[in-house]
Amino acid sequence: MAVGPRAHIDLSALRHNLSLAMTAAPGGRAMPVIKANAYGHGMLRVAHALTDLAPGFAVARMAEGVALREAGLRQPITILQGFNDPDELRLAIRHRLRPAIHHREQIERLEQQHPAGDLECWLKIDSGMHRAGLPPDEVHDALGRLRQLPCIASPPGFLTHLACADDRGDTMTDRQLATFRQILPAAAEISIANSAGILGWPASHGGWTRPGIMLYGASPFLGRTGPEEGLRPVMTLETQLIAIKRIPQGETIGYGASWRCPETMDIGVAAIGYGDGYPRHAPSGTPTLLNGRIAPLVGRVSMDMITLDLRQHPEAKVGDPVILWGEGLPAEIIADQAGTIAYELFCGITQRVEFIRSSAAPAK
Ligand SMILES: *Cc1c(COP(=O)(O)O)cnc(C)c1O
Repeated sequence: MAVGPRAHIDLSALRHNLSLAMTAAPGGRAMPVIKANAYGHGMLRVAHALTDLAPGFAVARMAEGVALREAGLRQPITILQGFNDPDELRLAIRHRLRPAIHHREQIERLEQQHPAGDLECWLKIDSGMHRAGLPPDEVHDALGRLRQLPCIASPPGFLTHLACADDRGDTMTDRQLATFRQILPAAAEISIANSAGILGWPASHGGWTRPGIMLYGASPFLGRTGPEEGLRPVMTLETQLIAIKRIPQGETIGYGASWRCPETMDIGVAAIGYGDGYPRHAPSGTPTLLNGRIAPLVGRVSMDMITLDLRQHPEAKVGDPVILWGEGLPAEIIADQAGTIAYELFCGITQRVEFIRSSAAPAK
């Protein structure tokens, strides 16, 4: 087998995490968020593995939704960014994709284009995050205009997104929920909760939930890890040692000579770097797992290699497996060291990494 980094994708862990999301927010329906190539895990692989459990899916862009339809997925698919030109609107109708309408110009586009066919949609409300979403005071007008459009067959659902739900102590979430509830028409279909809402904010449950990061086994909360929430890591990123070198005391390791050996010691070279998606900003001391035990990174991360302190690993040999994150080493720990979040680590895995499915998908 070729030497090099591999991402093992544990589909039974994925299914476990979706079940946990559904149990945590009972009474709602979940639309797993599988945008950005399912947070780097492989969109179609993830969609097929969840299709019998998931009543719907959500992605960011129209092209992602079209790819899901072309792969045979049949449930409702929400497009969180909606349509952004005439072609995308046509695609939404042709493929029965359900766009979020978050901006007045999208309504104008509908009025100008007057598409034939039915369009189910969401109105995305800006309840305080101030990114995408209609301001509450435009909702009345928007609803009135949508009602005039023959292509809008059923009343739009109401969707909003929480800005600070990852911090259980923040007061913003309660304010957002109050703003959202105030403009809700009676009996409107709703969707509020992301992973943090599902796990931490029961008042955001109901209607459709939108679990993202938790499906992949990472915690949405600051300073917590997935296993602490009962989640199982889906991606385990692994490579091998390709060299072990004895380096004299006082010599330095790697680019910029940023780390100096405090004693004569063994340094392990592992075949992974930022060219594979391992974060370049991971500092010396960031943990890896070598033969199941911690081996700290030393020196700078380069494009194809990292270097490890082997002082606690006298038995290590070339070819031994090195886990960068996943089973036994939550990605959140590496992300925190590198000044980022697990979301970005997962999305950043590059094409050079070989994907291996570590448990069979259910029969389709
Ligand atoms: C990405 C996204 C989600 C999923 O968020 P997680 O924090 O990954 O659970 C939910 N809703 C919207 C609108 C999103 O953009």
